[in-house]
Amino acid sequence: MPSPERMGFRTRGRSALNQVRSSRSWICSDDGLRRNAGVSGPSARARAEASGVTSRATMSWAERAAANLLPLSKVKSDLARALHEWRYTGSFNDLEAPVETCQLCDHPDIRYQFEIRNLITGASLLIGSECINRFGISATDDEGNTLDREDSRKKVSHDRRHLVEEGRKRRVISALVALAHVDKEFNILSFIEYLQDRGAFTPKQLSTILWRLSKHGIGYNPRDFKITIKRNREKAQLEDMENWERRRLEACLSDSQRKFLAGLDANRGDN
Ligand SMILES: [Zn+2]
Repeated sequence: MPSPERMGFRTRGRSALNQVRSSRSWICSDDGLRRNAGVSGPSARARAEASGVTSRATMSWAERAAANLLPLSKVKSDLARALHEWRYTGSFNDLEAPVETCQLCDHPDIRYQFEIRNLITGASLLIGSECINRFGISATDDEGNTLDREDSRKKVSHDRRHLVEEGRKRRVISALVALAHVDKEFNILSFIEYLQDRGAFTPKQLSTILWRLSKHGIGYNPRDFKITIKRNREKAQLEDMENWERRRLEACLSDSQRKFLAGLDANRGDN
């Protein structure tokens, strides 16, 4: 069994992460925002202090957001109004491991950071995509026009998908580069070009890659490797494969591809 590092997974901050997980049990919810919408930051904090509760860990997530956002906003006392001053800038970042904290709600385990900026003060925060949606922070289009809530959500989820997809491709390429170092017969360029062109490999290509990765003991996550079987040529490759070769590709298949393979297996069983 390869170590996590060999598998291409980053373990940075994992133990710290678990500590944070076990020490915090609060959950963000839309109900929380509705209940707390319009709650003013300082008075929420004042209330908390008056009741003897001063630790940020025991504040509600909307109170934490108010405490983080209001000092950086022009409106200093009303979270719902202050949020109108903020826009999602379209800048985002993949930390490659859930090691950061959302600068708006203090939620730990953030891997993908999205930047929001105050239109008046110019201040910015790096926050989780969930928070942009939950607090109804607007995005802007390419011309700088403010998008409505639905289009803002679409933009955030589009950007998040892009980050996830780029991360996946990076891991595939780093496995291929590791392979090229030890396997001189492996023509890495043609595989990388194909991946960049189609985002996936043909059954034959993937079979070759997985066989060579295993042969050289290079760890990989099969879910990072996608396969394309849209063209007849690609379907035929899968049809022609031996059962053991099909099984090796199975972990890389999508649900619908797995059904297609099960159909091929059933046909083979009938013969
Ligand atoms: Zn957050």
